Amino acid sequence: MIWQDYLSNTVQATKHSGIRRFFDIASTMDDVISLGIGEPDFVTPWSIRESCVYGLERGYTSYTSNKGMFELRHAITHMYEKKFNVKYNPETDAIVTVGVSEAVDLAMRAVINPGDEVLIPEPCYVSYAACATLAGGKAVAVPTSFANEFKVTPEDLEKYVTNKTKVLLIGYPNNPTGTVLEKNELLALADFAKKHDLIVMSDEIYGDLTYGDKEHVCFSSLPDMQERTILLNGFSKAYAMTGWRLGYALAPEPVIDAMNKIHQYSMICAPITAQIAGLEAIRNGEKHMKKMVAEYDRRRRLIYEGFTSMGLKCFEPKGAFYIFPNISSTGLTSEEFAEQLLMRQHVAVIPGTAFGKCGEGFIRASYATSVDNISAALARIKNFVEHL
Ligand code: PLP
Repeated sequence: MIWQDYLSNTVQATKHSGIRRFFDIASTMDDVISLGIGEPDFVTPWSIRESCVYGLERGYTSYTSNKGMFELRHAITHMYEKKFNVKYNPETDAIVTVGVSEAVDLAMRAVINPGDEVLIPEPCYVSYAACATLAGGKAVAVPTSFANEFKVTPEDLEKYVTNKTKVLLIGYPNNPTGTVLEKNELLALADFAKKHDLIVMSDEIYGDLTYGDKEHVCFSSLPDMQERTILLNGFSKAYAMTGWRLGYALAPEPVIDAMNKIHQYSMICAPITAQIAGLEAIRNGEKHMKKMVAEYDRRRRLIYEGFTSMGLKCFEPKGAFYIFPNISSTGLTSEEFAEQLLMRQHVAVIPGTAFGKCGEGFIRASYATSVDNISAALARIKNFVEHL
């Protein structure tokens, strides 16, 4: 049997993530310093882990309601009301998912009909285009530029909007660039969405990771936006909980109901162990999160200073835990730079092209690793650049 002939066309048209390839190479080598990985280097704070242990001791091992434990949904919606003054009904407007990854997938499948177009500003997280395509839609990449710190504008979007456009998918603070949009810039996107009657999917997984004077603005808190926004968020990054697989979506009732229709037949529910831990994270995790954010901030300043002082241009990232230096002055492509840096200096970074074509000429370096690792990696990168 030749399996290739039996696989679905949509799957065959879907590429493997450009990130994995570099991890696969790096995993065969000794002494690699990785600035490649997009996950906190912290262990989940103990009180969060402990709540899960207690939960298991008390015998919490069952399915939960499809949309997730009511207490958790309530804690999430309450947090949004407190932080952003935006009101969601925990009964009808919230669903707990298996990470933001599942939430993106469900959101797409809930609204996309064959041929519907999804505007996706690039560079962006690798799953967006794949989820749009797997749902039967057409992912339309909207390039952004270094000159504008990779901030998407209505003018950029106007060039790509058609009468088939149904969704605008944004993710700020951004992976891979660290870009944060100001409130007035988000308001301009809100006007664009209203003008073209679009659904906005807003992935705010890095919303708690902003630095300096940057305060996260929740997209659905903007005037008239709650009714057209599917807000996606989760616990992986802010609470160092990547392995727990816990996220959620907040949106008007018909959307949550549609997402739940799919979720009840695919996942049934997110793991109860993760949900118990998520509840503790929201109730008592903020102090731990703030400590981690302060540490990321320290590393952010170190890595920004390191790249700029070796002559690689970059703008100061204001959110998430990535920096996106311009390596075009080296004469190498992003892929060549990442591959040669890995082979010669044993430092792993991700080529910017993994996040979209306009990532050519850039690399993504993550500073979710120790100060010692960052300092050693910067010394190796400097050496690499000086000896090209
Ligand atoms: N969205 C963005 C922007 C991400 O960077 C990631 C992970 O790197 C995800 C979603 C996936 O998050 P989760 O672990 O909640 O599935």
